[in-house]
Amino acid sequence: MAQSPVIPDDRSRWRCAHCGNLTRFDVTRTTRVREFWHLSMAGAPEVDEREVIAETVESVVCRWCGAGDRIEVVSRPEFGGPADEGPGDGGP
Ligand SMILES: [Zn+2]
Repeated sequence: MAQSPVIPDDRSRWRCAHCGNLTRFDVTRTTRVREFWHLSMAGAPEVDEREVIAETVESVVCRWCGAGDRIEVVSRPEFGGPADEGPGDGGP
């Protein structure tokens, strides 16, 4: 498994270097949240507010080919990155 994945920013995105997938990934993440639980008088809870305190992405795996160590960060199309899901390098 690769080291901690890089999270894309507003100008970038993930791409699978193996198969060229740009749009479908299985993301495993741990999120620590604080929630405002609003309970009815009958005792049923509803979450009214949710604040993310910390978030760690543990792994990003390509949904198409299953590669977990070939995910790269590329620019979004408007910043010169690929606009089509083309073939990757296929290997090793
Ligand atoms: Zn792939």
